Amino acid sequence: MNRKSKKLSLAQLDHKYVWHPFTQMRDWLRSEPIVITSGKGSVLRDAKGRQYLDANASIWTNLHGHNHPKINAAINRQLKKIAHSSALGLANEPASLAAEQLVKIANPEKSALKSGSPHLGKVFFSDDGSTAMEVALKLAYAYARRKGRKQPKFLSLDGAYHGDTVGAVSLGHIDLFHKAYAGLLFKSDKTPAPYCYRCPHNRAKPERADARSYRKCNWECLGKLEQQIAAQKKKGNPYTAFAFEPLMQGAAGMTAQPEGWLRRATDVARGYGAQLIADEVMTGFGRTGVNFACHKEGVQPDFMALAKGLTGGYLPMAATLTTQKVFDAFLGRYDEFKTFFHGHSFTGNQLGASAALASLEILQSGESIRAREVLEKTLRDELATLWNLRNIGDIRQVGLVAGIELVRDWRTREPFELRERAGIRVCEVMAKKGVLTRPIGNVIVLLPPYCTTQSQARRMVRAIYEACEETFGPV
Ligand code: PMP
Repeated sequence: MNRKSKKLSLAQLDHKYVWHPFTQMRDWLRSEPIVITSGKGSVLRDAKGRQYLDANASIWTNLHGHNHPKINAAINRQLKKIAHSSALGLANEPASLAAEQLVKIANPEKSALKSGSPHLGKVFFSDDGSTAMEVALKLAYAYARRKGRKQPKFLSLDGAYHGDTVGAVSLGHIDLFHKAYAGLLFKSDKTPAPYCYRCPHNRAKPERADARSYRKCNWECLGKLEQQIAAQKKKGNPYTAFAFEPLMQGAAGMTAQPEGWLRRATDVARGYGAQLIADEVMTGFGRTGVNFACHKEGVQPDFMALAKGLTGGYLPMAATLTTQKVFDAFLGRYDEFKTFFHGHSFTGNQLGASAALASLEILQSGESIRAREVLEKTLRDELATLWNLRNIGDIRQVGLVAGIELVRDWRTREPFELRERAGIRVCEVMAKKGVLTRPIGNVIVLLPPYCTTQSQARRMVRAIYEACEETFGPV
């Protein structure tokens, strides 16, 4: 097979056999797919030899760039020993070492946390973000039952997305994704999530936003949260757990929580006896400028779900961290059957754990910390250029994550209807310019790997600018 026919056949094979996630396949089948064949740093290369910047870090997974020599070497070293043996009844070296490192970085100095915060000392490995949340959910449920609660009840945020397995979907509140499965789900309650740009209580004028003085309200959303939690307690069945993404809700549209919201909301939930489940699947491992987003507000949850960046974005592996107290509730004589009857074939996989170890080492290196600081600032400076455009309504940046909300006109904040595919159209033009990302509705996501250079970051933002002009007309 020569190179050309091989390229064509890969695209054709895809069209013939593969069903893509979150994709309208009728649209997909209308055009030839980009077939990725290799990557280096922040650059992806396709079967036609074209190069693209990976502006959403391969759906929020990649941390330090593709083909990183240290992670490659760690996987190769492990591969020479063994790829996988089961964690059901057996231990292995990389999983034990990775668990130790995770406990180290997930528990910052006591002074950085609210006093009395729990210690996350136990690590349950699984496969992806959904299973990490599934594990947190089942542990919180079983723990509450063991403490005498008959019908544990969960609270999560409006717009929440915690994965696609049935338990994780039950905590989710995005009608477009979740409503069709209502009959399969258990009922969880939702509470208002801060979305300052479209908040009925925010009195910031519809002018060009200044992120720092953006929120002008009296925390009405927190008032509602407290009322709801108090009312549930009055019914005699207080919430068992409050699940949330800290600092920024990803799939809700990169909606950023104003400073102080997380600390206040979790104080309220804890005050009424709820355990905290922090979904750090998107926000974890440095994305928000610190290792874990919760810690930016001094919050330590009882359960922390990690995935995506755990292996540097190399391999599917996840972890749910929790406390000794929860762990102890599952201890007993064999015939008491208190065991946590949950696990996956690839739990604690050696290749994944080796990649995780290498990635955690890079993450904590001075070089990576400095690079992230520079990238965060570069993104902030570059993103500011987008305010010139009529169709940019809001720019929300937390650390190295940005959501850019498209509107008909920034003066009116009128949203595009979903069927107009505004976000998709802009991203299609960006792809032609060599920058790949995926929108969430009308929100363009910028979430680059940490090795992204200043000029690459500039090109990413420039592509958004030009794509907006081409899609909606000049300013
Ligand atoms: N939680 C959050 C916050 C996520 O963003 C995602 C995935 N985008 C998940 C959970 C589910 O992760 P996965 O796709 O790895 O199952």
